[in-house]
Amino acid sequence: MLVTGGAGFIGSALVRALVAAGASRVINVDKLTYAGNPDAVASVAGDPRYQFERADVCDGPALRQILARHRPATIFHLAAESHVDRSIDAPADFVMTNVVGTFRLLEESQIYWTALASAEREAFRLVHASTDEVFGSLDTGGRFIEHSPYAPNSPYAASKAGSDHLVRAWHRTYGLPVIVTHSTNNYGPWQLPEKLIPLMIHHAAAGRPLPVYGDGRHVRDWIHVDDHVAALRCIADRGVPGGRYLIGAGEERTNLDVVHMICDLLDELRPDPSLGLRRELVRFVADRPGHDRRYALDAASTRALGWAPQRRFDEGLRETVRWYLAHRLNRQIPSLGPTMM
Ligand code: NAD
Repeated sequence: MLVTGGAGFIGSALVRALVAAGASRVINVDKLTYAGNPDAVASVAGDPRYQFERADVCDGPALRQILARHRPATIFHLAAESHVDRSIDAPADFVMTNVVGTFRLLEESQIYWTALASAEREAFRLVHASTDEVFGSLDTGGRFIEHSPYAPNSPYAASKAGSDHLVRAWHRTYGLPVIVTHSTNNYGPWQLPEKLIPLMIHHAAAGRPLPVYGDGRHVRDWIHVDDHVAALRCIADRGVPGGRYLIGAGEERTNLDVVHMICDLLDELRPDPSLGLRRELVRFVADRPGHDRRYALDAASTRALGWAPQRRFDEGLRETVRWYLAHRLNRQIPSLGPTMM
């Protein structure tokens, strides 16, 4: 098994899960950008079945060597620039890694796959982790399905949409056995505190103001990272090549509700009478440009493979708050431009 972006939030959870599940070899290919965190895979780093390859997915020759050296049967492609706010400030890295990097990985995977013996060719899968954000905003209700039209609104979503189209074309044109997955917003341990949930936990724990975009009524459908990882593994095993699978737990919440839940959990788990109720730390700030109002999806295709999410949002969030209280992430996060929080 080979995981790109295996030092990131979701990739590291996948790497840990694959090693724990007894995979014979797990290769982690990661450039270690500001978002890559070796601590997130430290628990498996000494395992002889685990190997780390520091490489950029835009570097075709490096990918060619890695594929030839490790001969994976499955590739999970998670390497990406992933923060929407950062894509608004500085989109170039998003186009480079998400579009060009995916193109390079497809090109090298196809060369590698074509040269495999027929049984290995038959078994090979490349699972491309995409997002529900490629479908745009659900202002009028309903849920995304596999055939929802693409309507990306942020540079991040557009770069992911571009990569999805390349993945589809490599299947239709060259027969490469690829599968595209679209997950909703993830939460859980090891997420960088530039994303909503860990950011709010850090601010609220310290009694700092909690900046909430716009009116806070934007809706996201939350899934625990371990449930996403279980879905990716299930799809790699049982999904149909050329298929598209939607992954979500059906846990829709407004951003403001999520922030309030975090405040209440911290008031309970780390009470600080000097702060008063942490909900009072909420500050509404100018909305993010192009901010999608609502995402939600129908995960029936993935459920039909035998997968189901195991954690309810309220339980998973409690566990996640506890985790961030117990762990200090020693990461330098590059600052954002003046328009972003
Ligand atoms: P992340 O930002 O936490 O991690 C990304 C990882 O990719 C990092 O380890 C980084 O070092 C690595 N990386 C970046 N550029 C690279 C390059 N050029 N070459 C090699 N490695 C590189 O992201 P995440 O939240 O773990 O997301 C993983 C994947 O899942 C992404 O493709 C993202 O679009 C997708 N996704 C994320 C979510 C979510 O809620 N986080 C939801 C749906 C889909």
